[in-house]
Amino acid sequence: MTERERGMLGPSYAWLRQASPIQRLAPYVNPRVVIACVLIAALAFPPIVRNDGDIDAAANALSFAALALGLNIVVGFAGLLDLGYAAFFAIGAYTYGALASYQIQPAWSGFWEPFRWLDLVSRLHQAGGDTVHFQVSFWLMLPISAAVAAFFGVLFGAPTLRLKGDYLAIVTLGFGEIVPIVARNTPAITNGAAGLNGVAAPQLFGWSFGIDATPYYYVGVALVAFLILTSTRLKFSRVGRAWMAIREDEIAAAAMGVNRVRFKLLAFAIGAAFAGATGTLYVAKLQTATPEMFMFPVSVMILVMIVFGGIGSVWGVVVGAVILQILQSWFLEDLSQWLHALGRLIDVAWLQRVELAPSIELIFGTILVFMMLYRRQGLIPAVRAMPALTLAEQTAHVTRIGTGEIAAPAGLGDGERREDPKLLDIAGLTVRFGGLVALRSVALTVPAHGVVAVIGPNGSGKSTLFNAMTGLVPADAGTIRFAGADITRLPPHRVLERGIARTFQNLRLFPSLSVLENVMIGMHARLQTGPVGALLRLPATRREEEEARERAREILRLFGNRLLPRLDHVVSSLSYANRRRVEIARALAARPRLLLLDEPTAGMNPAETLELAEQIKSFNRIGLTIVLIEHKLDVVVNLAERVVVLDHGEKIAEGTPDAVRRDDEVVRAYLGRSAAVA
Ligand code: ADP
Ligand code: MG
Repeated sequence: MTERERGMLGPSYAWLRQASPIQRLAPYVNPRVVIACVLIAALAFPPIVRNDGDIDAAANALSFAALALGLNIVVGFAGLLDLGYAAFFAIGAYTYGALASYQIQPAWSGFWEPFRWLDLVSRLHQAGGDTVHFQVSFWLMLPISAAVAAFFGVLFGAPTLRLKGDYLAIVTLGFGEIVPIVARNTPAITNGAAGLNGVAAPQLFGWSFGIDATPYYYVGVALVAFLILTSTRLKFSRVGRAWMAIREDEIAAAAMGVNRVRFKLLAFAIGAAFAGATGTLYVAKLQTATPEMFMFPVSVMILVMIVFGGIGSVWGVVVGAVILQILQSWFLEDLSQWLHALGRLIDVAWLQRVELAPSIELIFGTILVFMMLYRRQGLIPAVRAMPALTLAEQTAHVTRIGTGEIAAPAGLGDGERREDPKLLDIAGLTVRFGGLVALRSVALTVPAHGVVAVIGPNGSGKSTLFNAMTGLVPADAGTIRFAGADITRLPPHRVLERGIARTFQNLRLFPSLSVLENVMIGMHARLQTGPVGALLRLPATRREEEEARERAREILRLFGNRLLPRLDHVVSSLSYANRRRVEIARALAARPRLLLLDEPTAGMNPAETLELAEQIKSFNRIGLTIVLIEHKLDVVVNLAERVVVLDHGEKIAEGTPDAVRRDDEVVRAYLGRSAAVA
């Protein structure tokens, strides 16, 4: 069915276009009611079930849900494949284990007196001299373990920042192997393979949790609820958008102002903090910790849980973790029993002996393969599929933005109309790729409010010029000055902060994010919200978010009804021309002074080209300075005041469009020597 046919089905068949059963129900259910029901069911579980073994299994499932939520931030949100996540689980576990057990017992001295006064340690009277007993409260240790794990998250994350995909996975795999080995070989702190001694049970108002599973279950419910809230709030904030931008396209994220180093480390740290807190709970419940609890299979299991539930989907990974953990600790036992009974009934010997529980890894592997083959997005997908527009929606409010109609959205363009004959001033710019000189001593000045076009045959270095200006490739020589400051060696996100935004020749959008999200990522550098602000979501943060959303709509309005009705559509579902428009809108959202457009009309038909040229003109009219790489000469003549011609990395001509068109050398570069002679 084409998009057009789907549109003609009309509203009564709207459900046909929706993606999954859950989404089909979505309009009829109130998420708050669902959450309240889930919470009530979770709280009512122990008094109804009353079987300690089952409650224990549920408590473990909650621990794994918390771990899955943490790994989801690293892998699902930020797209950093971490195969050694259990390392942070171990670090949290041993941090609590060491500070709340009889494992480490240094000799008593006056140094410990203030700690005793704070009730963090006590003095043990022993034959060989008094020793210190660590007894830091479980409740205090939850945030401390989280912080310690976050510290290691940054420590492990830092060397891997430059790595992507496979390499990152291999390095994290290494860390995941190292941590349990270190644990096994430092018996003074961890008691090695034998496991920690006498980890204290948590206490609440003087009452000890003991070995009953129920109180741990309730702490697990509270922890998971808090982590769901944290994950959700982070996901739908400036921070979450920055992570997803990095996941979708790291280069584009940097060019739109996202500080990659900071946000990757933040993802590692927050993901690790989740695991650290969970490790504390897990060890408190087991009252011991052995290195075997944190080996590679555990990391893989958590990864399978998030793949199963839906990578990047907060509720999905919780459901995935709970289902798989319950399957493992509960259902497989029952299933084995049923098979034994069946075996006895039909008198088949091997059926009476089959044990499913030990084959858990085989079962997990099979699930993984099936998910990859038949439902890659997981049980609850992170990306909601939007129905295509109906024909009526597509043709509604057709407003072709013509000349003069455009109203500048607040903050867009250079309101003060500052005069600056050298807003951009490039001198002697040279870029080499090995032996290839992509740019040779190129000079270029652009006055404020000007429109300059850069033309030249393929491979003449035009895109490289933009890449060097925006910090994506290093300049070997020369200087780039913008608004009086040297920006030659600034990283991409700093260049954007100075006021230069760009588009890419080969579209670099964030494909699985919506139009609105793409544009809002463009605003990253103009917004303030950090992780704490996102979590607290105070009125100021809410206002910022609301204003950003409104501003994004205003910017999209510049493109008439092309993008506005598709606000929540995933960018990869748009037509090519619309994607180009989204990329321009995203650049405009950064409120640049200088806009760099790399072949913006490539792939557009003549009508669309004309429309876009008008729009670019109007951007200039509201105060934007524009440098444009363009192949279509009629567009160049129509738009640019000045044209710069590159050939083999050298500037061969510069002047008004007409003068350049008559230049012999330009004709030769474009059409070959014979044309110039003729
Ligand atoms: P244009 O945009 O004018 O078509 P480019 O600036 O993309 O040309 O490329 C100029 C030259 O530099 C080409 O020969 C291209 O192959 C080379 N080049 C561009 N980027 C790189 C890179 N990252 N590594 C190596 N060579 C590159
Ligand atoms: Mg190019």
